[in-house]
Amino acid sequence: MPTATPSFTSVYGPVQSWRFGRSLGIDPIGSTPTCSFNCVYCQLGEIQQQSCSRQIFIPTQKIQQALQSFSLWDVNTITLSGSGEPTLAQNLGEILTTVKRITSKQIGVLTNGSLLRDRAVREELAIANWVAVKVDATSDDVFRRINRPMPALKLKDIWAGLLQFRQIYSGRLAIQTMLLTEWSEPDQMEYIRRMQALLPDEIQFNTPTRPRPLTHQLSARGNHLPGACVYPTQQLKRVNVEVLERLSDRIEGMLGIPVCYPHLAQEEENHAPSKNEPLY
Ligand code: SF4
Repeated sequence: MPTATPSFTSVYGPVQSWRFGRSLGIDPIGSTPTCSFNCVYCQLGEIQQQSCSRQIFIPTQKIQQALQSFSLWDVNTITLSGSGEPTLAQNLGEILTTVKRITSKQIGVLTNGSLLRDRAVREELAIANWVAVKVDATSDDVFRRINRPMPALKLKDIWAGLLQFRQIYSGRLAIQTMLLTEWSEPDQMEYIRRMQALLPDEIQFNTPTRPRPLTHQLSARGNHLPGACVYPTQQLKRVNVEVLERLSDRIEGMLGIPVCYPHLAQEEENHAPSKNEPLY
């Protein structure tokens, strides 16, 4: 049976997140997925507009108006992410300040960190109560294969920006890392070395637990149930929970940084490994 296509709203949810609890989403990007990366596992499907240029996609006033129809007391946190890279929104700082004026709920940003060399981006992000930065790769080769960034982006610049951000940021900094395969010993050691230099408050490991939509689906900003997809998807390579557990224990033991990862038992049952070769 055909289903109605949801229309774009700049505030959505709340969605249930294993990392953040009940989270109300703010999408400062809009209905066209726009990002400086095009990750092989992106739940938005293929990124339609790759860009590193900041602009105002959704006026802050519109977001403020949209927020009025949501019960903010009923959520654990408010998250800026949505249809792409939120730091591309030139009004990021204004949105964060506005939401903080409206509610005392924690507000955070999920970012790929690609604009952190920009001082204005660092200062705006620092308004958030928490920031989660994507770090999937420790080598340029893996960075290009998994995150598929715009050609001008260099891993070493992003890393330098992240270290600069760490120096000014007094909120809670999490690093989010997606594992599609088990890392080699040198890759693990390089990651640990970098985390030792950065000292985030938390590391969050993840692995794809749901298939990737092949085309843009607005509902992919939030939850969709395993098995409930009515659009074409692609199964992704992933690691099992023991791999996440071993690496987490190692990092916690060596660095004392708390590491969390999803409990995959239910997802593993619902997504038996596909015989189709994954994307990379
Ligand atoms: S950084 Fe996020 S929004 Fe951008 S392509 Fe990767 S997963 Fe998608």
